[in-house]
Amino acid sequence: MHGAAAAYYLARDGRDVVLFEKGDLAGGATGLSVGLIRCHYSNEPMIRLAHRAAVKWQDLESELGQSLGYRRNGLIVAVAPDDADALRRNVELQRRIGVDTELMAPEEISRYVPGFRAHGLALAAFERQAAVADPHRTATAFAARAQELGARVYTGTAVTAIRLRDGRVEGVETDRGFVRCEWVIHAAGAWAPRLAAGIGVDLPVKPGSLSVCAFDPRYEGWSTETPTWMDLDTVTYARPDARGLIIAGSDHDQKGDEDDGEAGALNRSAPAEPDPDVYHGAPDDLTAALVYERIVDRCPWAEGARLVRGWIGVDAYTPDYHLIFAEAPAGSRCLHVTGGSGNSFKLSPAVGEAVAEYVASGSCTYLDTQAFSLERFATGRLFRGAYRMHILG
Ligand SMILES: Cc1cc2nc3c(=O)[nH]c(=O)nc-3n(C[C@H](O)[C@H](O)[C@H](O)COP(=O)(O)OP(=O)(O)OC[C@H]3O[C@@H](n4cnc5c(N)ncnc54)[C@H](O)[C@@H]3O)c2cc1C
Repeated sequence: MHGAAAAYYLARDGRDVVLFEKGDLAGGATGLSVGLIRCHYSNEPMIRLAHRAAVKWQDLESELGQSLGYRRNGLIVAVAPDDADALRRNVELQRRIGVDTELMAPEEISRYVPGFRAHGLALAAFERQAAVADPHRTATAFAARAQELGARVYTGTAVTAIRLRDGRVEGVETDRGFVRCEWVIHAAGAWAPRLAAGIGVDLPVKPGSLSVCAFDPRYEGWSTETPTWMDLDTVTYARPDARGLIIAGSDHDQKGDEDDGEAGALNRSAPAEPDPDVYHGAPDDLTAALVYERIVDRCPWAEGARLVRGWIGVDAYTPDYHLIFAEAPAGSRCLHVTGGSGNSFKLSPAVGEAVAEYVASGSCTYLDTQAFSLERFATGRLFRGAYRMHILG
């Protein structure tokens, strides 16, 4: 996603671009992504970036000339009493930045999600601008449009090394030969640490897995227009897909160290240290059963919903669950864009735009290069989530 988006925005700026993909486009985390687009985060740099992306998403289909499965269905985030103050603060911050979001009582959720039971919840927020899109289509559309603008796209072509000369990018070695270039945008996702290590850069990125289940509820009240809901009490989310399925899962792996009990069990079929080159199959029966139970607990009409499909995707995780956007070594013209941490599909239009800006001027309008830097890991200025569930940022 980030490589394809960067290729497009650079080509749009008239740059001579080559995109290398070792497998197929969207063959990494992107192709398995759930495709949620939201601005509900709890720190300013991420909200600004997500908001910029959300605005760009609205026109992206016409800009790229293809359907991307984009639907503005909205998002409901609901919390238990111990997260209520954090939700209040976050919504205030988001509104200040321009996000169309408001607080609501948990009992009101059923106005949007039929039959939603709000027991145990203290407060909710409704983000109207939130949406969903098809990650595979979006990544391939970015690459196709980049090609139309003159970029060359080589799939099945691996970059084997980044070459520096006198501290500056000289080119890349690929399994088809050497290619000279002035800049490298290194967006190799969970594979990125190895190429970075080759130029002496230590990327604090590890592969991590996420499980997803798709249920068929056969319920007409659940439509493509129904908002996605996230219940931070049971750490469960559900979004409608284009065929009326419930795409659901639990982001419990990102909850933090302090609470890995029952939630940890939910992802028991996913390997703790997954190999991004291996297909990790589907969540096991117990995992799917627990997700199902939590869905039915909130939406009793989902009782009897059939599990249609499940999958486990691998993304690149940073210690603070936020993206890395960093030129390293400093002044080298090698820009590392990785560490999506299970939540950076949505950011890609804004990040791609930021790449093109950075290459042109060394700065970005909407992306805070200090906040997303590599230095944050050395200086301890990490992103810190306001909720128990850290992935929400
Ligand atoms: C199950 C799941 C659900 C998710 N849901 C959401 C969501 O709802 N919303 C959201 O915003 N985000 C979500 N995410 C996260 C999001 O999908 C990722 O953060 C994002 O897609 C990462 O994109 P990327 O381009 O950094 O990495 P990738 O998509 O992994 O792409 C990296 C690419 O680099 C290629 N590559 C690697 N090494 C080389 C090499 N040496 N030479 C050439 N090519 C190479 C790989 O083949 C791969 O295609 C989810 C992720 C998963 C796994």
